[in-house]
Amino acid sequence: MNYAFKDETGKRFGRLRVVKLVSSGRIGAEWLCVCDCGNEKLVIGHNLRKGQVKSCGCLRKEVSSHHAKYNLAHGVIRHGHARKGAATSEYQSWSRIVNRCCNPSAVRWKDYGGRGIKVCDRWKKFDNFIADVGKRPSPDHSIDRIDNDGNYAPENCQWATREQQARNKGQVSKVTDVALQREYDKRFWSMDDPRLWEANYA
Ligand SMILES: [Zn+2]
Repeated sequence: MNYAFKDETGKRFGRLRVVKLVSSGRIGAEWLCVCDCGNEKLVIGHNLRKGQVKSCGCLRKEVSSHHAKYNLAHGVIRHGHARKGAATSEYQSWSRIVNRCCNPSAVRWKDYGGRGIKVCDRWKKFDNFIADVGKRPSPDHSIDRIDNDGNYAPENCQWATREQQARNKGQVSKVTDVALQREYDKRFWSMDDPRLWEANYA
């Protein structure tokens, strides 16, 4: 029996390119995909469209082995980040990210959510965020998006100092700008309670 399905031939989903239909059945069409790494994988169309499968499995392996090593080396433990009481600096970083990307009334919305920068679904939970990025190396570090037009997601983010970030983006770092930015963050961020964000997004 034939079932209706959406033709995905030739389309790209993350690292996967859809080669051909393998079967169509009650649970949906199953597609043969080729990953950028060369592996083949069969994926149900629905899972491609929802973004649940983006590679043959190599992407997740790379990201998690990188983060597992990092977290082990830096002694990150989940319970160091209290959900109640004082928010850790990692928690505040995460809250700021979610706020400026998901809250249209956030002060810096226009530079983030307002221009299409998103937080990946996985990172709408603080526990996932901290598991992926690890402990903040120093107070001078903040989350840097490697591709400045890319989203907040494991493959596009790392802790970096402002100087490193400026260098990465080919800008000259000016001490005055760094001081101004810190002042700005302090003044505007203190207006929001980061814990509200976990209540809404976690
Ligand atoms: Zn792959």
